[in-house]
Amino acid sequence: MSRVYNFSAGPAVLPEEVLKEAADEMLDYKGTGMSVMEMSHRSKAYDTIIKEAEADLRELMNIPDNYKVLFLQGGASQQFAMIPMNLMKNKVADYIVTGQWAKKAFKEASIYGKANKIASSEDETFSYIPDCSDLPVSEDADYVYICENNTIYGTKFHTLPNTKGKTLVSDVSSCFLSEPVDVTKYGIIYGGVQKNIGPAGVVIVIIREDLITEDTLPGTPTMLKYKTHADNDSLYNTPPAYGIYICGKVFKWIKKQGGLEAMKEHNEKKAAVLYNFLDESKLFKGTVRKEDRSLMNVPFVTGDAELDAKFVKEAKEAGFENLKGHRTVGGMRASIYNAMPIEGVEKLVEFMKKFEAENC
Ligand SMILES: *Cc1c(COP(=O)(O)O)cnc(C)c1O
Repeated sequence: MSRVYNFSAGPAVLPEEVLKEAADEMLDYKGTGMSVMEMSHRSKAYDTIIKEAEADLRELMNIPDNYKVLFLQGGASQQFAMIPMNLMKNKVADYIVTGQWAKKAFKEASIYGKANKIASSEDETFSYIPDCSDLPVSEDADYVYICENNTIYGTKFHTLPNTKGKTLVSDVSSCFLSEPVDVTKYGIIYGGVQKNIGPAGVVIVIIREDLITEDTLPGTPTMLKYKTHADNDSLYNTPPAYGIYICGKVFKWIKKQGGLEAMKEHNEKKAAVLYNFLDESKLFKGTVRKEDRSLMNVPFVTGDAELDAKFVKEAKEAGFENLKGHRTVGGMRASIYNAMPIEGVEKLVEFMKKFEAENC
């Protein structure tokens, strides 16, 4: 067996320990004589799995009691609609557009009400986070929306926007559990888990209880009401059961590493290895304004599309997978999520140095 260093933006690398445990339990989960995949979601064994997953997540993120944790389906993209359908009481919401995902969420919200783009960094290919200290937040805005870590462009909000008292809704798909967060600052924190937590098919929504109401937009399907899932502890219908089980294992793995403080330290160390090299390299350059850099997604270029392609090809041959940048930006991107070991980044930098010496 040989494992590559997988720099994919998502679905992405998972802790080897978790995969091995899941493999060990594949045919017989803890004496049940069946796989978690084959198990009723109403069984006692599964009830323990989902309850423990929630309890561990609550502990990791220090989630207050007045927030619900929902394990849903439909990916982060379904939340682009679910959020306005459930929250747009005044039919007004403000969006800060810092990349493709925020832009898609903004467009989706426009279907349901008046979505205002109150800030954007599209003028410079989303390579920075706009100043959000004094934005023209709408008086009757139901919420202010951000994408906290921009997976494609490699930027991150290091300071949350001043929402002037309005509810903050944040897509944290690509920075989920990468560092400590203050949940009380948000109305909703949500993310697809396939970037930093688990297999595709699960989206986790952490939502303040007062935002869960019957008062949704007319025509909102039962399955798209937060209340449906909150009232049934994410078991209104069959949840993405196996995916939640893996997420639960990852939560335990993070706890074992020392929790989110330790995760942050590990992620900062890893990112510094790559950014420090990019800052001194004669060939490679980071594409993001320094103070807005993400710890998770690191885009870089040589400035020559042919050389970029050569790099991606040779890197792949050397065991570094998925370094090609997003199709909308080109160049390279190394996603270095929680489960990427520091050796992976160190070896990548060694390889980049060698490539630079050969091509510069
Ligand atoms: C990947 C990603 C999405 C889309 O996720 P899906 O689960 O494919 O819908 C949305 N937002 C961010 C920040 C992402 O990284």
